[in-house]
Amino acid sequence: MSSIETPDIVVIGGGIAGGAFSTVMARAGHSVLMLEITEQHRDVVRGEWLAPWGVVEAQRLGLYDLYRSHGAHHLKRHISYDDDIDRAEAEAKAMAFEALVPGGLGPLTIGHPRLCGILDDAAVAAGARFVRGVRKTHVTPGVRPTVTFEHHGVAHEIKPRLVVAADGRHGKTVQQMGFKVESDPPHHWFSGMLVENAHGWPDDLQSIGVAGDVNYFIFPQGDGKARLYQGVALDQKARFMGEDAPQRFVEGFRLDCLPDNGAAISEAKPASHCFVYPNNDTWIDLPVGPGVVAIGDAAGHNDPTIGQGLSVSHRDVRVLTDILNASLDWSPAALQPYADERRERLRRLRLAARLPAVRDCEFDAAGRARRERLRGKFMIDPMITGLALATIIGPETVPAEVFDARALDAALA
Ligand SMILES: Cc1cc2nc3c(=O)[nH]c(=O)nc-3n(C[C@H](O)[C@H](O)[C@H](O)COP(=O)(O)OP(=O)(O)OC[C@H]3O[C@@H](n4cnc5c(N)ncnc54)[C@H](O)[C@@H]3O)c2cc1C
Repeated sequence: MSSIETPDIVVIGGGIAGGAFSTVMARAGHSVLMLEITEQHRDVVRGEWLAPWGVVEAQRLGLYDLYRSHGAHHLKRHISYDDDIDRAEAEAKAMAFEALVPGGLGPLTIGHPRLCGILDDAAVAAGARFVRGVRKTHVTPGVRPTVTFEHHGVAHEIKPRLVVAADGRHGKTVQQMGFKVESDPPHHWFSGMLVENAHGWPDDLQSIGVAGDVNYFIFPQGDGKARLYQGVALDQKARFMGEDAPQRFVEGFRLDCLPDNGAAISEAKPASHCFVYPNNDTWIDLPVGPGVVAIGDAAGHNDPTIGQGLSVSHRDVRVLTDILNASLDWSPAALQPYADERRERLRRLRLAARLPAVRDCEFDAAGRARRERLRGKFMIDPMITGLALATIIGPETVPAEVFDARALDAALA
């Protein structure tokens, strides 16, 4: 028997999606129990760059001011330095987010463990109950779904109205719920790390480019911190292994194409471990069942190379909470519009990810020739432009015909 009072909703996972969902629903007056496996959020390298369309979702959820008041940092400019473009030419083509984004706000950067903590605190402040250190969570779907778990050696069983799986990319809850997870094969490795003392790098400037056999990413977070990522070929995993991997990772930013040959980054101080992930997408076409629903990475994650997962999670929370707060009918049929919108959104983002994966993460002569052919087509070729804009101003803002797998394959051939 559980000593925990039965809530309306049990949320499994107190990360970005779980924390945001619990905050919004608790603020709306629902009783929410959020279960989290860790005792403390740690940096395991996740998203720290919220796209402009995700910023809009955070505003609509009433979370944006909270993020800003805890130091979330806006980026204003983007430059693609590349080893086969002249540096001055790259800088002349700098892109100002203000000119591209309705409302003018560029991407927002903030540490992932910090953002999880901010959201957990907000959920508790709004009245949610938060239990950390849970073990053996298990969900049985049903009109009254059942959640069992252990906490400090005590077994609990709860029958809420709704269970929300928000346990991230390695979560097991969706399998227990009976959802079918699909995936595509990995195309490259994607590795990330945090650095400090990168004061020489302008703190409003993000940069993504290709140099040698690396697709590099630099996202400043203010105060000299920056989240760095590298995409490399599938046979290159070993370069991120070993105790000296963090140091080798930063030194990998000693690139001739960057200002001052990348000294501002390559001489920065590693401030986290270096984690590596396959870049592939996973998805669930129907993340809704009797008494259960999945959100965020638990419902399928987009290729991290295009940095959409935080925005996807915020959109999930907004669409789902709008439905739940509009009616007392929380049946699978009532939640179907969430599943439908998400399925098409993730389909579009899979195609948006395929373009840079193939264009920027193939480093042989053919890959270089393809890059050369596709370079300079942003704002000229409707498909290349649409796929890139989808990741900045949102996949739904771009004409549907842009998301044509065959046309994309032909362009990449
Ligand atoms: C290398 C990399 C780079 C990325 N870069 C970006 C980026 O720049 N921009 C972007 O938008 N997205 C990015 N993403 C994606 C982004 O991090 C995720 O989409 C986002 O964190 C999803 O939030 P979530 O809440 O679903 O999962 P998470 O943030 O992973 O949270 C899941 C939570 O569930 C908890 N949990 C797990 N199992 C259990 C259990 N059994 N019981 C209870 N709790 C459990 C975990 O401890 C965790 O707290 C990146 C991802 C990776 C891997």
